[in-house]
Amino acid sequence: MKEKMVLYFPPTVTEQPFIYYLIKDFNLLVNILKADINPRMEGRLVVEIGGEKADFAAGLDFLQGRGVKAFPLEQEIIWVEERCTQCGACTVICPAGALHLDRVTMQISFSGDKCVVCEHCIKACPSRAMEARF
Ligand code: SF4
Ligand code: SF4
Repeated sequence: MKEKMVLYFPPTVTEQPFIYYLIKDFNLLVNILKADINPRMEGRLVVEIGGEKADFAAGLDFLQGRGVKAFPLEQEIIWVEERCTQCGACTVICPAGALHLDRVTMQISFSGDKCVVCEHCIKACPSRAMEARF
C-alpha cells in the first residue's frame, strides 16, 4: 500500500529521527513531500509512506505512541480551468511536474496525481486558478 500522510510533531520530539525508524524498523518507504517547523518548534511533515499493510499499521502505532499525530492527507490542489489565463507562471515553480505547458498549443494541463501539495502554485498564480481543498 501507499498513502500520503500528514505528521504533526510536538516540540519535545522534533529532533528525533522518526523517519529513519520507519525505514529501518518497519521496512517502510518514506518520501518527504513537504516539511516545516513553526516558531513554537512544532513540526509538520507531508509524506508518502509505502509498504506492507501490517508494517504501515505498526509504523503508525509507533509514531502515535511517541506523541506524533498522523492523518491521511485529505487536502488536494484543484486547478480551476475557467480562471486560468494560461500565463504559465505556475509551470515554472511546480517542483513535481504536475503543471505542464504544452509548447506547441501553449495550453496548461494539471496532473493531480503528481502534485505534492506544496502550494507554491497558489501563491504564484495571478488569477487564483489554483486552490487547496479539504
Ligand atoms: S501544489 Fe502546485 S506547485 Fe505544488 S506540486 Fe502541486 S501543482 Fe505543483
Ligand atoms: S499561474 Fe494560474 S493562470 Fe497562470 S497558467 Fe498557472 S493556473 Fe493558469
